[in-house]
Amino acid sequence: MISAHAGDFVWRAGGAIALATSRGERAKVVCLSFGERGESAKAWRAGRTLDEIKAIRREEAQNAAAALGAEIEFFDAGDYPLIESTELVDRLVRVYRELEPDVVLTHPLADPYNGDHPAAARMALQARVLAQAAGYDAPGAPLGAPPVFFFEPHQPEQCDFKPDLLLDITPVFDRKRKAMECLPAQQHMWDYYTDLAKRRGVQLKRNAGPNLGLAHDTMGEAYMRLYPQVTDVLA
Ligand SMILES: [Zn+2]
Repeated sequence: MISAHAGDFVWRAGGAIALATSRGERAKVVCLSFGERGESAKAWRAGRTLDEIKAIRREEAQNAAAALGAEIEFFDAGDYPLIESTELVDRLVRVYRELEPDVVLTHPLADPYNGDHPAAARMALQARVLAQAAGYDAPGAPLGAPPVFFFEPHQPEQCDFKPDLLLDITPVFDRKRKAMECLPAQQHMWDYYTDLAKRRGVQLKRNAGPNLGLAHDTMGEAYMRLYPQVTDVLA
């Protein structure tokens, strides 16, 4: 999972991460920046320095990743702006080659409110393509074709985000909430993303049909696929 800032992976995909780790699977978050300039307004207002804010956000994100059972690696590439570079893409290629992920999660490619999010997505996708190339000079075997899922942006309509996958995160929602509460710098988001999970849960039930026995308090996360689903059975 490739996240532009320290909090993004928690709000948008904490449930998917907790589901994977609860099945005993490995989940890794690459945090390209700490969101130190653009998503830490509370700490700036409190008079903290840049280095202090980076340290605070690093610790918060580490705690949140631990609550979800995920590994986390920080690239400390800077935010507002997050500058795309061949060096960052190369570092991501090496992560893909080492991890051989079954799925890749990242931001959607459009976000008129936040240029860092599409920049992170572009680098995540470029690195995935390069990691597939037999001739790319990085350790490990060429990557297969892990599906790419875009997680839900903060203002989905403006980001051309229309869900085509609703993930049932009910069994792990308490872990997602605990991970959110590791991020007091963005406390205003806790209830917002709890409410969103409820709404996506209602839509999930509506799309699953009335007879599947889903819990009344089903919680969901929405995703979009970048590439077509591959299957030999329509279901
Ligand atoms: Zn962000």
